[in-house]
Amino acid sequence: MTLSQPSGSDPDARASSGLRSDPGAPPAAPAATAAFLDEADRYSAHNYKPLPVVLEWGEGVWVRDVEGRTYLDMLAAYSALNQGHRHPAIMEALREQAERITLTSRAFHNDQMGAFLRELCAATGFQKALPMNTGAEAVETAIKMVRKWGYTVKGVPEGQAEIIVCTGNFAGRTTTIVGFSSEEAYKAGFGPFTPGFRIVPYGDARALEEAITPNTVGFLVEPIQGEGGVVVPPDRYLACTREICRDRGVAFMADEIQTGLGRTGRLFCCDWEDIRPDVLIVGKALGGGVYPVSAVLADAEYMDVFRPGDHGSTFGGNPLGAAVARASLRVILEEELPRRSDELGSWFMDELRAVASPHVEEVRGKGLMIGVVIREASGPARPFCEALMARGILAKETHHQVIRFAPPLVIQRSELERALEEIAPVLRGEGVRLQS
Ligand SMILES: *Cc1c(COP(=O)(O)O)cnc(C)c1O
Repeated sequence: MTLSQPSGSDPDARASSGLRSDPGAPPAAPAATAAFLDEADRYSAHNYKPLPVVLEWGEGVWVRDVEGRTYLDMLAAYSALNQGHRHPAIMEALREQAERITLTSRAFHNDQMGAFLRELCAATGFQKALPMNTGAEAVETAIKMVRKWGYTVKGVPEGQAEIIVCTGNFAGRTTTIVGFSSEEAYKAGFGPFTPGFRIVPYGDARALEEAITPNTVGFLVEPIQGEGGVVVPPDRYLACTREICRDRGVAFMADEIQTGLGRTGRLFCCDWEDIRPDVLIVGKALGGGVYPVSAVLADAEYMDVFRPGDHGSTFGGNPLGAAVARASLRVILEEELPRRSDELGSWFMDELRAVASPHVEEVRGKGLMIGVVIREASGPARPFCEALMARGILAKETHHQVIRFAPPLVIQRSELERALEEIAPVLRGEGVRLQS
């Protein structure tokens, strides 16, 4: 069986594409695709290594490429598409707002931002929110906020503030953020870096405790490390580190840009351990897959350190983004996407674990944030993703050995069942160009 949307792909087109031919040869891109790949290769920086598929249409969990083939999107733009492609309610909000006003800058007020922030605070239980655009900007905002809180509230000597981060972290691509990465590829050639960060092993609460000094202002942590390879910390890690931070007067900063908004089977991954961070950072799905919207949430004690002129963004809080984010948040809550993610995710993870394969070392995750770890001996995860693509499943490797499955949370169980029929043989090595 080939995976296709009911009205979708043409099996002949796939058979003639050459994607499933000789497993020893690299898959050759069909003609229309090749032209787009050449164009991107020629005119764009080579800072990504995408799968050779060129998409021209998407709806819900389905996307179609320029050859007319249909795929199930199991990456969901790194969880920026939790609501699926072009969710009707979000598209309606986008269209409606686009007819009124799109950008005011923060030099003036607009009639969408206040309601957006009020609804976001209500959904998360924080007093205040500061809107930005991308995740990295929100992380930068949180760093500035916590540093200034350290100087003005905690009493850290000027210029001495420290923030503790974890090995394997990913928080974006600005120079400050890559400076505290433990991943050499993220940093090499981009220094010098911003001082004031310390790295401790992820998952080790005692290491955090020992690294804290009187100048420590914050602990920045992902409840599950997405880009790090869907790394789930030990049970109680979040609760323990939360408590350590409270005892020592350190701001607990949860980067839920990827884990948040339903992805892991709760509205926020911190909810799994019933903890409330001091600073919550959200992005990705907040924009519903149509517009970049991010935000930092905190109570007044932190947020009120900002004064006019301290910080800003031309596009942050713009009415188009705010209207889109309101709809995006409403979809997550009204369609109970966290519950869907929980139920479908645990079932799907069990099914993946039940696939008998010599290539799979481990299946891990929470909700519909799932990593399938390929054994080193079976080579990297990339050829498995290429084989999945040839069968109509789009997933992407992360951190060399891990295939990430993180489809839109609106996915149906029947669609996951059909996906499994394609995924199982690939995990067993069928059609995979094993590199060892
Ligand atoms: C994607 C991501 C970011 C960065 O978001 P951008 O919108 O790409 O800047 C930060 N933190 C985490 C955990 C992420 O997954």
